[in-house]
Amino acid sequence: MPVPFILVRGQNVPLVGDALCVLPSESGLEFIPGRDKCKARDGLPTLITLHDTAGEGSGKAIYTNGKRRGVSYHFAADRAGLLHQYCDPAAVTAYHIGHGNSRSVGIEIANAVFPAGIKIGFFAYAKRLVLTGREKLYGREVIEDDYRGKKRRVLGHFPAQEVAVRSLVLTLLREFPTVPKRIPPPSLMPGRVTGVRLDPEWQGVAGHLNFTDAHVDPAGDIYEAFKDVLSP
Ligand SMILES: [Zn+2]
Repeated sequence: MPVPFILVRGQNVPLVGDALCVLPSESGLEFIPGRDKCKARDGLPTLITLHDTAGEGSGKAIYTNGKRRGVSYHFAADRAGLLHQYCDPAAVTAYHIGHGNSRSVGIEIANAVFPAGIKIGFFAYAKRLVLTGREKLYGREVIEDDYRGKKRRVLGHFPAQEVAVRSLVLTLLREFPTVPKRIPPPSLMPGRVTGVRLDPEWQGVAGHLNFTDAHVDPAGDIYEAFKDVLSP
């Protein structure tokens, strides 16, 4: 049964707000660390990283999708805005951004960003994904956000997801004061990442697209959910 708390340092800690979470003990999903193997935390997290590319499914589908790709997260928010926890963010690292995982808490949101989109280009820096107009929106809106200094049209989030992600981010900021209450600067360099993920400048509440040119997630509207608690 979903509960109004998450597991941190082996303890149940209450979620800020009204969100509910399915704990690992309830789902029975074994944490699969992915390519990075299971590593103990190297110090406390200084980064929360949001993702959007696990497809459109349930907590179990997000888990299975990650497992198939050799990646993992600490948490997910499904389409209904229900949170799912896969492991204790204070205890283990998950493999979701590559270098920097050791300091990051990973949150995957069920939103395909470019559902049924087409890829144009061969090299990662040239990769463009576009909406085709045939996407299944399920009541969501297509939004326009900034991607490395350029406008793009992507699929936004469900209101219930924004409520859940706000709750989770605020809870994690409370539990991990080592995460600065700020959004790291966007990478403006097409094709490569500016900054090193463990530099102080790159700590805070980030999106996957801050760190690698090969990823376009998350859609920018998710920051509206909690940016009032962050420094500009
Ligand atoms: Zn991602």
